Amino acid sequence: MRKRLLPPDRLDDLLRRRARGVSPKALGAAFGLKYGQVRGLLTTHAARLRALCDELGVEAPKAGNRRRKNGAPEALPPGAKSRKCLTCGGGFVPEDRCNWVCPTCKGTAAWKWGGEAYSLHLPGDGP
Ligand SMILES: [Zn+2]
Repeated sequence: MRKRLLPPDRLDDLLRRRARGVSPKALGAAFGLKYGQVRGLLTTHAARLRALCDELGVEAPKAGNRRRKNGAPEALPPGAKSRKCLTCGGGFVPEDRCNWVCPTCKGTAAWKWGGEAYSLHLPGDGP
């Protein structure tokens, strides 16, 4: 179990002050905590803070957690479940975000061996 930063009554006091609009920085100074520790407490006890705000009839302050979720670079964007194949125009579910050709088209001989439609011809390139 994690060590408590504050005894429950002090924590309650901190949350009440936050509910009244005291900034985390000022709370840190008042309670002898670092800014990050105050943020951590506010995140951990966000539900309690909201309840206190309801009790006081004030709007809950913005959530203390500013971290952004960094998805894996190769991960598909959320909601992008299927896309249109660049070759046949049919819908398919890609394996990764760089996947723009459906498995059917990739399975064709033309894709595998570089048929006429896919080969590169440079200007002045004789047969
Ligand atoms: Zn296709």
